Order: sequence, then C-alpha cells, then structure tokens
Amino acid sequence: MKKKLLSAILMATMTVSLLAGCGEAAAPAPAAEPAATEEAAPAEEAPAAEAEAPAAEAPAGGGKIGVSMPTKDLQRWNQDGANMEEQFKAAGFEVDLQYASNDVQTQLSQVENMISSGCSVLVIAAIEGSSLGEALDMAKESGIPVIAYDRLLMDSDAVSYYATFDNYKVGTVQGTYVKDTLDLDNAAGPFNIEFTAGDPGDNNAGFFFNGAYDVLKPYIDEGKLVVPSGQTKFDDVATPTWGTDVAQSRAENILSSYYADGTELDAWLCSNDSTALGVENALAANYTGKYPIITGQDCDIENTKNMIAGKQSMSVFKDTRTLAAQVVKMVTQILNGETVDVNDTETYNNGVITVPSFLCEPVFADANNYKELLLDSGYYTEDQLK
Ligand code: BGC
Repeated sequence: MKKKLLSAILMATMTVSLLAGCGEAAAPAPAAEPAATEEAAPAEEAPAAEAEAPAAEAPAGGGKIGVSMPTKDLQRWNQDGANMEEQFKAAGFEVDLQYASNDVQTQLSQVENMISSGCSVLVIAAIEGSSLGEALDMAKESGIPVIAYDRLLMDSDAVSYYATFDNYKVGTVQGTYVKDTLDLDNAAGPFNIEFTAGDPGDNNAGFFFNGAYDVLKPYIDEGKLVVPSGQTKFDDVATPTWGTDVAQSRAENILSSYYADGTELDAWLCSNDSTALGVENALAANYTGKYPIITGQDCDIENTKNMIAGKQSMSVFKDTRTLAAQVVKMVTQILNGETVDVNDTETYNNGVITVPSFLCEPVFADANNYKELLLDSGYYTEDQLK
C-alpha cells in the first residue's frame, strides 16, 4: 500500500520544473510507473520547486535510501558515496551504501537486496549501464523510484531521474583546452595528438569523447592535427573499465609503434584522470621527447599532484558534494510529493525513454586554480596533495 502511494506521489511529481535561466518551457517527464497513472494527483497540486536549493529535509518518518556505487577503486566514487551518506543522514534519512567492486553481478544483487530490504528510493551509479535490467524491473514493480547517478541507466523505463554533470561539456572543455593551448587557429602546425576515451559500457564515455572530438575534428580534417596511430574512432580509443593499467598498456603500444623513432607528441586527449594516469605512466617509461599536453577529469589526488608537478596539464573538476546535494534534494522532493528539479529533458535518452535530468556544471581546473577550487573549498587538505 505504502509503495502504491509512493508510485502515485512519484507520478504526481513527474511534471518537471526547469531552473531559472537553464532552459525554456518545462516538458512533462515520461512516466516511470505507468500503472499508477490514474492514481496520480493533478500536477498543479504539487508545490512549485524553488530556484535556490533549499536544505533538503526528509519527510516525516524519513526512510531508507539505497545508494549503489560501482567501485571503491576510483577515488571519486568513494567521495560520491561518502558525500551522499553524510548528506542523506544529515537530512534525516537512513542510508544503505554499497560498493560493487566493479562487478556487475555484485551490483545486481546489492540493488536487489536494497529493494527487498525496504529502501524507498534507489540512487545508482551503474558499472555497466545496461546490466541492471532485472533489478530495475523489480524496483518498478515495487513502486520504488530510481535515480541514475552520474551514469545513465540504459534500456529501461524504470529510471525516474538522472543527476549528473554536463558530460558533453566536460569533453568540450578538454578539447577547447588543447585547441587554445596549441593555438590551432593561428599556429602553423602540424601537431601530433592521440586520444584515450572511457569505458564503452558507460554512457558518459561517448559524451566525453564526442564533446572533445567535435572541437578538434576540424583541425584533424584540415591536417593541422595529425593522429600518428590513426586511432580516432571511439571504439579504437576506448578503455574498458576505465582502467589505468588498460590505458597504460595501449599507450605503451602506441608509443613504441609510432613515437620510438623520435616523433614528437604534442597532446594526448584523455577523457578522465584514471586513463590520464595510465598515459602519464607510459610516457614516463617510454618517451623522452617534449612533454605533451595531457587532459583529464575528476581532479583525483594523484592527478592533481601530477598537475602541480607539470605531468598533467588540466583536469575537469566535478564537485561531488554538489552532485550529492542535488540528489539528496531530488530524493526529498520525490518523497515529499514535490516537483523535482531538472534542467534537461531532451539529452539523455536511454534507448527506451528520455530521462529527465539535472546537469551540474563541470569546471576547468589546472595548476593555476587548483588551490582555490580544491583547497580553499575544503575538497582536499594541503596534506592530501603532498
Ligand atoms: C564519470 C567520471 C569517471 C569515470 C570513471 C564516469 O562515468 O563521469 O567522472 O572518471 O566514470 O570512473
């Protein structure tokens, strides 16, 4: 009964609001729970969302929120999980936080357990976007809303909302950095570049790569940027599991095949920090020419140290505290029957539905602004970066 009620509440809140200045008219979000349609309260009964994020507060009685993270191996997911746990608890919720060791079956059974143990909302960062179908069906049958966290959950109509950063923009920030630093509009070139993208099972990876490639493609087409390996297609440059070791061994192969004769490398576009680290390791052991521009994303500690040491040129800062706060707010809005904040209702189609999304802003980071971004804001302590 409680779950039916929750479904009805969810339906009632499926009229989305766009944050002031973020877009045009609000479009109604697709239904996550069609069976409950006739029970839905009229949308106008839902209180309007406020433009400013109010401090999220659990509805009376709180509730247990299931938070499923992909792995503890990568620093960012530890931060994401910890930030959400802290903020959900502060808002009065119980939290079931699980990490799945990058193992799809483990994540599937963890999510199923969250459902059977009575979680009222699920927040999931998938290891492999299409692999949780069974659990998502179960959530839908039980009337449990699901928020896809950072990575879109694919091929399912059981996804209620998506909270992430503007993934395409992450890529354009990286591509624009390479373009500006090499001064591609004015310099004669040609310059050599290689690409390393992310995990093909992660819907974000294509957005990052396309964002960067769209900026650089005109220069590749005109011959000002040359890719000595010839590898420019996403499938050729992808890094399964986003593994540092995977990125490193591909980079070693490329360096020994195309750069061992003294060919200079000007830039290596890496989609994120774990892959950038692999490329940096490969360069340290296999390349003695002029050090290239290297891009990244996440401002992981190792990579931030490398930026300070001049071994990585930039990263993209995605403040996991902001994303966590947004998700806590969305969960609270769902459970309170309020309109849920989204600012994008067009970009993220998961193969079945277009999922109403909230995109946070990614921020450019380098050795010049890391103190302000990462230390002054309390994201890291100075000791962590020593
Ligand atoms: C995230 C990135 C992260 C990557 C590897 C992506 O889905 O958006 O921030 O670097 O996964 O974990």
